[in-house]
Amino acid sequence: MKYICISCNAEIAPREHATKFLCPNCGEVEIVRCEKCRKLSNLYKCPSCGFEGP
Ligand SMILES: [Zn+2]
Ligand SMILES: [Zn+2]
Repeated sequence: MKYICISCNAEIAPREHATKFLCPNCGEVEIVRCEKCRKLSNLYKCPSCGFEGP
């Protein structure tokens, strides 16, 4: 299974320390962020409910 960073659209390498969590607002979408975006605290936006968070 491939994961795409929701902030920068980069493909996540299997051994990269990406974070995955369900959207804190709707809980329906799995948000995936790469290590870089996590460190930079880039914004993400839930494709389902439009929730934006750091
Ligand atoms: Zn990213
Ligand atoms: Zn959501």
